[in-house]
Amino acid sequence: MHRQTKMFCAFATLLLVITIAGAYSRQETPAGFLANGIAKLSGGNAGTPLSTEAESTAAAPELAKGSWINSEPLTLANLRGRVVVVEFWTFACYNCRNTLPYVKRWDERYREKGLTVIGVHSPELDEEKVLDNVRKETASLGIHYPVVTDNDYATWKAYGVEAWPTLFVLDKQGRIRWSHVGEGAYDETEAVIQKLLAEENKSSGQKTETSKTEKTTRIEKIMKSEEEWKKELNPEQYYVLRQKGTERAFTGKYWDNHEHGTYFCAACGLPLFSSDTKFESGTGWPSFYTPITAENVTVENDSSLGMTRTEVICSRCGSHLGHVFDDGPQPTGLRYCMNSVSLKFEKKP
Ligand code: FE
Repeated sequence: MHRQTKMFCAFATLLLVITIAGAYSRQETPAGFLANGIAKLSGGNAGTPLSTEAESTAAAPELAKGSWINSEPLTLANLRGRVVVVEFWTFACYNCRNTLPYVKRWDERYREKGLTVIGVHSPELDEEKVLDNVRKETASLGIHYPVVTDNDYATWKAYGVEAWPTLFVLDKQGRIRWSHVGEGAYDETEAVIQKLLAEENKSSGQKTETSKTEKTTRIEKIMKSEEEWKKELNPEQYYVLRQKGTERAFTGKYWDNHEHGTYFCAACGLPLFSSDTKFESGTGWPSFYTPITAENVTVENDSSLGMTRTEVICSRCGSHLGHVFDDGPQPTGLRYCMNSVSLKFEKKP
């Protein structure tokens, strides 16, 4: 063997050993460790903004089935209208632990403003594949956002992930607009979250013109005199919808309704809530963790009855629907507590 060839072989072997040892110590795959290292060496550790072209970018891959912690099973399709952070992590990875305070802060700061954080737990070690261990670690690390296990790496592969942690930020149409591998780029990632939260909520696949028209049509106000409302609504509906009354708990039509479909405003027919986001609140009123789209309901401060509450009204006709509280389930932590009488349910065909 020539001397130069020998030197090259020795160098290649050394590089391989460093890569495998480094990956092991950081609990990354060797390929991921190398990718991270190259990213750092080339100064490319600041994240990757992806296409912002609305029409040309497809939706991000759907989350594969797994066990959910802190939440009912979620789908990205049902989270349209919200900005979503998908973070691939595993509990023994210290790079993930270093990233965690930032991810938790984004969840706390922006959850009520339309952000859902989802931790996809893609394990490396055998102990990280045990659901009980993931549950315990999630709790002891103070993670309150939804976590889904990815033991067969189906979601990991679908997103082409190679190292822990890797995060993706999805816009309100479910498209990947930012990704980042490894620690760091926290300010840049937060700026992307803020930018996407401020974007208009357009329906996927529609041209901008169409969605603007649709939005205008959808929330165009309906103004009627109280006399007109009185004629159109029955006395119970008029009392709740127009006089801000409350039906008695466990007496309404929908608190125990488990059928799939859509809940519309009983006064004007605007779609308000989907059965997909309805949950058992135990209150005796139909409860949802998010409206069908944020713009279809309006919230106002209500200090009647000696309490400070947040009233929910229909954005189109201004009718009273109920109140929203911050003790709901994930992904929003909100509980839209509605009067059945304010709603009209239509079953999915
Ligand atoms: Fe309405």
